Amino acid sequence: MEFATFADRAAAIEAEPADLEIIEHVRDLLEDAGGSEESSEPRTIEIVARFVQGRVFPAWDSTTLDIGPSACYAAIARAAGQNVDSDDVEDRLADVGEIGEVAASYEFGGQQGLDAFGAGNGSDDLTVREVYDDLVDLAATEGEGSEDRKIDILFGLFNQCSSDEARYLARLVLSEMRIGVGEGTVRDAIAAAFDVPEERVERALQVSNDYGEVAQVAREKGLEGLDAMDLEVGRPVQAMLAQAGTVTDALEEWEEVAVEWKYDGARIQLHHDPADNSSGGEIRVFSRNMEDVTDALPEVVEYAEETLEGPAILDGEVVAVDDAGEPLPFQEVLKRFRRKHDVEKAREDVAVRPVFFDCLHADGEDLLEEPLTTRHERLEGVLTDGEDRPEDVDGLSLLWLTDDPDEIESIDAEALESGHEGIMLKNPESTYSPGRRGKNWRKRKPDVETLDCVVTGAEWGEGRRATFLGTFELSVRNESTGELETVGKVATGITDEKLAELTELLEPHIAAEEGQEVEIEPAVVFEVGYEEIQSSPTYSSGYALRFPRFVAVRDDKETVDADTLERVERLQS
Ligand code: ATP
Repeated sequence: MEFATFADRAAAIEAEPADLEIIEHVRDLLEDAGGSEESSEPRTIEIVARFVQGRVFPAWDSTTLDIGPSACYAAIARAAGQNVDSDDVEDRLADVGEIGEVAASYEFGGQQGLDAFGAGNGSDDLTVREVYDDLVDLAATEGEGSEDRKIDILFGLFNQCSSDEARYLARLVLSEMRIGVGEGTVRDAIAAAFDVPEERVERALQVSNDYGEVAQVAREKGLEGLDAMDLEVGRPVQAMLAQAGTVTDALEEWEEVAVEWKYDGARIQLHHDPADNSSGGEIRVFSRNMEDVTDALPEVVEYAEETLEGPAILDGEVVAVDDAGEPLPFQEVLKRFRRKHDVEKAREDVAVRPVFFDCLHADGEDLLEEPLTTRHERLEGVLTDGEDRPEDVDGLSLLWLTDDPDEIESIDAEALESGHEGIMLKNPESTYSPGRRGKNWRKRKPDVETLDCVVTGAEWGEGRRATFLGTFELSVRNESTGELETVGKVATGITDEKLAELTELLEPHIAAEEGQEVEIEPAVVFEVGYEEIQSSPTYSSGYALRFPRFVAVRDDKETVDADTLERVERLQS
C-alpha cells in the first residue's frame, strides 16, 4: 500500500464526524492493506492497523522511536528547503498549534541528499512498509551521533512526502495522530472486514495486546485463528482496572465479596518463562503502561528467581518498604520505578518488595477466563511450595471471601493499620478483563466526610479481647435539647494495640456496667468515617451511620465541639 493511500484515508477519517462511518473507513483500509501473498513480516495490514491508531509498534512492545519534537522539526525544515529552519517550523507551530498542519504547509522534495533518499513531493510512491522500515531503523539507532542519524532518516522520509503524507508522518512520529480512531474503532473494523464477531476480536486483542497481529490473523485464519490466540509469556497485557465503590453496593450485588488489601505502590506484571534463553532473560517486569521496568527492580527479579518454577504471568504491586519491611508512601516507589542508573545505590536508599494479587497464566494455562477465586488459588499454588499457610507466604496478597460487613470493616482497619491504602472489593466470580475499568474490581471510596462523635457506650470484648473495650457507641449533640443522640456503633477492625489504647482512655469514664455493656460518660470524641447516613429507628437520633469506621481520637476536641444532629440531618439529605 502506498503511504499516499494511507494518508488519503486518514484525511477522510479525520474529516468524518460519525463513528460508524469512521469504522467503515478503517475497515476499507484494512481490506485494502496488501494481499496475503505478501511475504515480509510484519504484513502491511499489521502496520496499517497500528499506524491508524498512531502507533508504530504493538502496545506490548516497549520500543519507542525515542525522538524529540526538535529533531522532528529539524528534519521537516531540512526537507522543506534551504530557506527554512527549525525556528520557522516552530513559528508556524505556534500559529497553527499542530505539527501535522505545519508539515503539510511545506513543499518537500528536491533537497540535498536526493540520491540517497529518493525524489520528493510524493512522486516516488513511498509505501507504508517503507515508512515502517525506516521508522524501525530510526528506533534502533542509538549511541553517539544517533540524533543526527535519526534526523537523516526522517529527513529522507519527509523528502518523499506530499503534503498529506507529511501531515500524517509528522503526527505518527510525534505520537499525535488524533484522527478519532480509538481501540474500539479498530476492533469493530477488524470484525467488519473479516466477518468475525466483535467479542472474539476483543478476546484476541486482550490476550495478544496487538491490533496488527489480530487484524492479520482475522484475515488469514478467521475465527478459528482468533480463538486459538493465547497469552504469551514475556509479552505484557493491559492491566485490569478498578472503579470506586462502596461496601454497601458490593454486598448488594454479589453474594460474597472478595476483599483484599489495597497496597499503596505501583502496579507490576511479572512474566516468568523458564524456557526463554533470549538475551532479555526469563524474568521480565512490566509497569502498568507495559514499559519494561525489569532492570529498575532487582528485588522483584530476585523474588521471582527464588520463588517461581514454571511459566507464569502474575499481576501485583511493588511497594517501597523501610528497614523493618513496613510500607512507605507511594512517592518512595516512584523514586525506584523507572530508575535506569545507579539502581544498586537507589536500592540502598529505598528497598521495594512485590505483592501479587492475581495470576493470568500458570504452567502453560491461560487463566483470564477463570473466576477470581480460581485464579487466586493458582496464585497461591505458584507462590507456595504447598506447605506454607497462605498468610506466611511472602509476596502473596491475601483474599478474604465474606458477606459480613463487620469482617470487611476489620480487614479495612487492619490494612490501614498496617500502613496500606485500604481495601479492594472484587467480584469473586469475575474473569480477568485486561484494560477494563469495570464494576468487578472496586476500590473502596475514601470517606467523603467524617463525623466527630462522642463515645457514649462500649462493650467488653470476648475471648482474647475480654479485657478490652470494643464496639463503641457513637453520639452527636442535639443542640436544641442539649442531649446526646446515638447514631451508630463502630464495632470492629481495630488492632489489639489500638483497643488497649482506647480502653485505657475510656475506662476512667465508665459510668455503669451491665454484663458486657458499658455506659460511658461523655468525654472522648472519635472521628469516624462512614459510607452513608440512613434514616433508622435503631438509634435515638433517628439516623444510622452505614459502615462507620474509626479514623482517630480527636484529643483536640471537647464533647461540646462534637458534630451536631443538625449536621447529620444535613449530610443525609
Ligand atoms: P486509576 O486506576 O484510577 O487510574 P490509580 O492508578 O491511582 O488510579 P486506583 O484506581 O486508585 O489506581 O486503584 C487501582 C490500583 O490499585 C491498581 O491499579 C493497583 O495498582 C493498586 N492495587 C493495590 N492493591 C491491589 C489489589 N489487591 N488489587 C488490585 N489492585 C490493587
